[in-house]
Amino acid sequence: MDDYGLSPSNPVLCGKGPAGEEQYLGRLRCPTGRTVSFKRIGSRRVNDLRYLQQAGLALDSELAEIARLIPDEPVCVMLDCYAVVCACGSHSVKVYMDMYHAGPDLPISQEGWSLDPDPRREGAVPRGTA
Ligand SMILES: [Zn+2]
Repeated sequence: MDDYGLSPSNPVLCGKGPAGEEQYLGRLRCPTGRTVSFKRIGSRRVNDLRYLQQAGLALDSELAEIARLIPDEPVCVMLDCYAVVCACGSHSVKVYMDMYHAGPDLPISQEGWSLDPDPRREGAVPRGTA
């Protein structure tokens, strides 16, 4: 899908709760490589969960319990929506995030935007080999 993070039907799979959202957005860079500031502008419940049907997805069970999600078959998920503005002032975007599910570490699918490497992943044992 080519609208990663830009649509409520394809949110950023940051996982790790509110801290995960902040960590992700803190690593997001605009097309000129500048950092961004961000503000949560709302939440919305989504029932179209086809985005969860992909390989390598991890559900944060503790958070899911709080959100009353059924791990095997969630019926809806609360997404957060952030207004993101870059430091160069030329770029802004609205980003949808799912803090309950962790997926591939990818930037949003907006042309030129990138994601700084996660410092906490450096030297980490790749998943599946531990
Ligand atoms: Zn910019």
